[in-house]
Amino acid sequence: MFNARKHSDFELSGPLTVGSILGKAIRCVGFNGGGNDVERPLNPKDKLVLAALRRCGKPVSAYDLIDDLKPEGVKAPPTVYRALGKLIDAGLVHRLESLNAFVACTHSHTCEAVAFAVCDDCGSVAEFESQELSGLLKGWAKKARFGLRQMTLELRGSCAACAKKAG
Ligand SMILES: [Zn+2]
Ligand SMILES: [Zn+2]
Repeated sequence: MFNARKHSDFELSGPLTVGSILGKAIRCVGFNGGGNDVERPLNPKDKLVLAALRRCGKPVSAYDLIDDLKPEGVKAPPTVYRALGKLIDAGLVHRLESLNAFVACTHSHTCEAVAFAVCDDCGSVAEFESQELSGLLKGWAKKARFGLRQMTLELRGSCAACAKKAG
């Protein structure tokens, strides 16, 4: 089940630095969806971490990921954190700040603002991007002379399936 929140203190002290997150954001600007612009080649362990995240199909905490990867021989948490940092830098994985969890990117980015609709009931996440949103946010930043580095939005609510169940 989804339990990203209880480990948040531990994970915030992990080696995923602000630098690595901002680094991705900076590289994202002007990113044209090529998808292969990976600066550091992925090693087999990075690929296992990515495969595990893709299998999950929804955000998972680093702890759950480490559990998942144990049978595959990736046992050291620092290895998993390093891989996550690299995958985030490469734009293959996103970190959801409000959940302190990680999710595999589901598309190649063609515009700069990315939004995640997080279902509070089942934990599923839909990722989408919007040119209009990019324009709006960049327009505001320009007016406010705000040095924009990242445009990631997290929407919270109920997915269609859960909303239907709730009536
Ligand atoms: Zn993405
Ligand atoms: Zn749901």
